[in-house]
Amino acid sequence: MSRVYNFSAGPAVLPEEVLEEAANEMLDYQGTGMSVMEMSHRSPAFQQIIDDAEADLRELMNIPDNYKVLFLQGGASTQFSAIPMNLKKNGKAAYIVTGQWAKKAAQEAEKYIDVVRVASSEDKTFSYIPDCSDLDIPEDADYVYICENNTIYGTKYKTLPNTKGHILVSDVSSCFLSEPVDVEKYGIIYGGVQKNIGPAGMAIVIIREDLIPEEVDKCVPTMLAYKTQADAGSLYNTPPCYTIYMCGKVFKWLKKMGGLDAMKERNEKKAKILYDFLDQSEMFKGTVVPEDRSLMNVPFVTGDEELDAKFVKEAKAAGFENLKGHRTVGGMRASIYNAMPIEGVEALVEFMKKFEEENK
Ligand SMILES: *Cc1c(COP(=O)(O)O)cnc(C)c1O
Repeated sequence: MSRVYNFSAGPAVLPEEVLEEAANEMLDYQGTGMSVMEMSHRSPAFQQIIDDAEADLRELMNIPDNYKVLFLQGGASTQFSAIPMNLKKNGKAAYIVTGQWAKKAAQEAEKYIDVVRVASSEDKTFSYIPDCSDLDIPEDADYVYICENNTIYGTKYKTLPNTKGHILVSDVSSCFLSEPVDVEKYGIIYGGVQKNIGPAGMAIVIIREDLIPEEVDKCVPTMLAYKTQADAGSLYNTPPCYTIYMCGKVFKWLKKMGGLDAMKERNEKKAKILYDFLDQSEMFKGTVVPEDRSLMNVPFVTGDEELDAKFVKEAKAAGFENLKGHRTVGGMRASIYNAMPIEGVEALVEFMKKFEEENK
């Protein structure tokens, strides 16, 4: 067996320990004589798995009691519709557009409500986060929407927008559990888990209880009404059982690693190794303004498409996988999520140095 360093933006690297544990439990989960994949979602064994996952997540993020935690199918993209459908009161919301995912969320919301784009960084290919300290947010906006870490462009909000008293909704798909957050600043924090937590197939939605409406428009699918899912403890229908189980294992791993403070420290250290190299390299350049750089997704270019392609190819041959940039940006992108070890980033930088030397 040989494992590569996997820099994929998602689905992405998982902690090796977690994969090994899951492998060991594949045929017989804790004496049940079956795999978690084969288990009824109504069984006591599975109830324990989902309860433990929620409890560990609450502990890691310090989630207050007046917030619900929902484990939902449909990925982050389904929430682009669920959010406006559930939070709609006046039928208007403010969106800050900092990349493809925020853009898609705004487009989807427009099917159901009036969307006001209060800021955007599209003028400079989303290479920065706009100043959000004094935006013109409509008084009657039901919420303010952001994508907190922009997976494709590699930017991250270092301070949250001033919402002027409005509810903040944040897509944290690619920075979920990468550092501590103050949950109380948000109405909803949500994300797909396949970037920084677990396997594909699920979104986690953390929502302040009073924002879950008793009633939604008649046309809202039962499955998309937060009340349905909250009342049923995410077990209204068959949930993504195996993904919940794997996420639960990752939560335990994160606790063992020292929780989110320790993760933040580790992630800052990893990102610094890469950004420091980019800042002094003659060949490789980061594409984002330094003050808004993501700790998780690091895009970079050589400025020469052929050289970029050569780099990606040679990196792959040397055991560094998935470094090709997103199809809309080109160049390279290294996603260095929680489970990427420091050695992986160090080895990548060594490889980049060598490549630069050889291709001067
Ligand atoms: C990947 C991603 C999404 C889409 O996630 P799906 O689970 O595939 O729907 C949405 N937002 C962000 C920030 C992402 O990185």
